[in-house]
Formats: sequence, C-alpha cells, structure tokens
Amino acid sequence: MDAMVSVPEPDPAELRATRPHLGIDPVAGLTLEDVPLAAIARSFGTPAWVYGAGTMRARARAFRAAFAACGLAPDIHFAVKANDHQAVLRLFAAEGLGADVVSGGELARARAAGMAATDIVFSGVGKTVAELDRALAEGVGQINVESAEELEMLAARARAAGRPAPVVLRVNPDVDAATHAKITTGRAENKFGIALAEAETVYARAARLEGITLRGLAFHIGSQITDLAAFRAACTRIADLARALRGRGLALDTVDFGGGLGISYRGEAVVGVDAYAGAIAATLGGLGVRLKTEPGRWLVGPAGVLLAAVVLVKETPGRRFVVLDAAMNDLLRPALYEAWHAMLPVAPARGPAGPVDVVGPVCESADRFAVGRMLPPLGPGALVAILDAGAYGAVMSSTYNSRPLLPVVMIERGRFALVRARQPEEALWAGERVPEWFG
Ligand SMILES: *Cc1c(COP(=O)(O)O)cnc(C)c1O
Repeated sequence: MDAMVSVPEPDPAELRATRPHLGIDPVAGLTLEDVPLAAIARSFGTPAWVYGAGTMRARARAFRAAFAACGLAPDIHFAVKANDHQAVLRLFAAEGLGADVVSGGELARARAAGMAATDIVFSGVGKTVAELDRALAEGVGQINVESAEELEMLAARARAAGRPAPVVLRVNPDVDAATHAKITTGRAENKFGIALAEAETVYARAARLEGITLRGLAFHIGSQITDLAAFRAACTRIADLARALRGRGLALDTVDFGGGLGISYRGEAVVGVDAYAGAIAATLGGLGVRLKTEPGRWLVGPAGVLLAAVVLVKETPGRRFVVLDAAMNDLLRPALYEAWHAMLPVAPARGPAGPVDVVGPVCESADRFAVGRMLPPLGPGALVAILDAGAYGAVMSSTYNSRPLLPVVMIERGRFALVRARQPEEALWAGERVPEWFG
C-alpha cells in the first residue's frame, strides 16, 4: 500500500494544510489542536503518543453526516483494534458510537469504557468457546459468524445457555480490495468469512438452527482501501445475495458493511467519506435493512502522532541515519507493512532538507521509519512528529528490547492530559516467576 504508491513526497506546508489539527506557532513550533508538541515533550518526555480528541470527535461527526446526507443512518461500531484506549472508547461512546470487538479482551475494554453490550458487535475468525459464552452471557448485540463450523459451535453454546445468539453471517465477497496483501481480507484465499458460493446454504441452515436468531449479512474486505470500485463490487455482491436469500423466503433485516475506509498518508488519492457513503447508499440503501458499519482507521488515524526525539545523527559513507528514541516496538507499521508515515520536525527548519534514513534503536534492520526521507538538519534532542499514527499504532506496541510502553497524552480545546503513564520498568517483568527449584 503506502510504500508502493509512487506519488511525490508532500512538503511540510502541504502536510499541514491537509491536516487541520496541525498548526505552527512561530516560537514553539508544531502544534496539535493548538497545543505545542514541545510542551507535551517537556511535560511527559519522549517518545509519547499524542491524540487530538477534537479531531476524533470531528471525524465521527463527519462520518455520520456523510451518511445522513445520503439519507442513511447506519449504526457505527468503532473497530476497537485500531485504538483501544479507554479515553478513546469513552469519547466515541459519548458520540453515540458502539464498538466492533475481535476478542474477549476488547469486549472487556469496551464494557469498561461504559459501552452497552447491545451496542457491541463481536467479529473474528477464531472466537473461542469461552469468548462465545461470554458474548452470550453479556448480551452482545450482534455476533458476526465467520464459518459454518462456528455457527454450529455458537448454536450449541446458545442452547446450553438458554439464550439465542443474535447472528449475522460474514460473507467473503471475493473482491480485490487493492490494498497491502497483509491487510486484505475479502479474497477467496483469505481466512475470513463464508465463501460467497456457500453463503446461501449456510444462511438457510442458520435460519432454522435452534439457538440462532439470524439477522442478516456482514462483510469486511480489508483495511486502508483507497479504491471505491472495490467497495462497490463487494456491496453489489452482498446486495445480490440478500435479494437471492429473500427470494428463497429467508428473512434478513441487517447488513453490516464492515470498515476499511482508507486515509491519505502521503498525499495519495483516497475515497472521500461522501463518495463512500454515496456508494453504500446506491448499492445497499434500497434493501430496507438496518445498516451497520465498523470503521477504525478513518476515525482515529489522522488524529494521533508519535512524538519522538533525535538521539543522534550517524554518518556512514554515503548515508545519514537519524536515530530516534522511538522504535518499531512502538510503531510497527513501517516494519510490518512498509507503511509510509509523514514526519515533521517540531521546531522551525534551520537549513535545507536532505535525504536521511530515520531509524530506531532496536536491534533489527526492520527498525526503520523512513528511507531517503527529505528532512531539514536535525541535531540530538530535536523533536520529530510522526504523523497519522492514531490507528494501529499504540495498539500494536510491544516491549521488545525491554522498552516500556509509551505514555499517551490527549488534547482537546487547548488542554492536555496524560491518559496513560509511561510503563514503569519494573512492570516489564512484574508477572514473571522464577521456578522454586532454581533455589
Ligand atoms: C479491522 C476491522 C475493521 C476496521 O478496519 P479499518 O480499516 O480500521 O476501518 C472492521 N471490521 C472488521 C471485521 C475488522 O477486522
């Protein structure tokens, strides 16, 4: 995806112009929702995650408004895996969103953030018996079943619990979402969903299965999708399937069209939320069903930055490495997907830009954020903001190299608060035990 798109690198002014939450203070430098990032670094140190709550709210409202303009009011279930922080979940709950969860842990997080069980959708290709039991016991609003095997498993658990399971079947529409191979989910060879060719049979079985309250269909074709045709193709196939099911006398009152709407990381063309809503309306709007959606990245990606400081600049013959205090264990996307993240120095540039490799201190060659990136001169201690890190950022962090998890700071209307403290070093081994027989 990002790395393979050959568009020219945006310049700093362009990067800021397309991200209204960023600004420049002539003295303090780069700001996020009017708070100087330098002030955040002084208060909490680096590296740190910084989220703009105003930006998240504005995006949730824009998302809803785009559908309202097409006469639709889908239930919006924020995909918790994109950013699972309690403050983020509370913010979206206050905006009237529910959650899409993919594990017992995410279910617990969403409930802890005050989300009603009925506003939660449980997705995932390998929900365990314990997770299904928990979803039933808590009264989760919708379980997205991904296979005929899971359907039987869930029906048995629901009969045992004496509680019917509210189910939609996730169908794999076999379309190429034209995104990175690691985040496409809607091709026949992917593990997700029930094959289109088998969907009618499984649906018919589900409709008469004791323990199952069958509501309809779901699909999700991948993440960071920048091609409207892929969404349209998937929606058309699902709409055709819905009509075929009804033609066989099978009832259907819900279609969940998943998430996956991409954002522009480096100035590449993306699907606007209005065009997206328009395509949904044109394909699914006439079915007369309750629509549900599960956006993650689009809501939170642009709202977050990873704030880092330069440790040193290392010169080797023919290369200049800017070594940051942040690393792949903090933000994995560049190492995992070759993802491209824009970077802006926090202080106003002094001197012309030149190509540098931006790397972290972890002992892996994959620990690099950028290769040949044009950045102005940066000395030790200089602050760098890695942009669009609000989705699939902190959630994918590990403590590899015994690097504690980073603090999280949230900004809104010029105020800021620490919403997660930097992990203390002792916490790194807190759950560990040495066998008694070691003496
Ligand atoms: C990951 C995921 C989403 C969210 O995808 P985004 O690209 O972040 O919008 C929604 N639904 C399901 C089932 C997912 O796995």
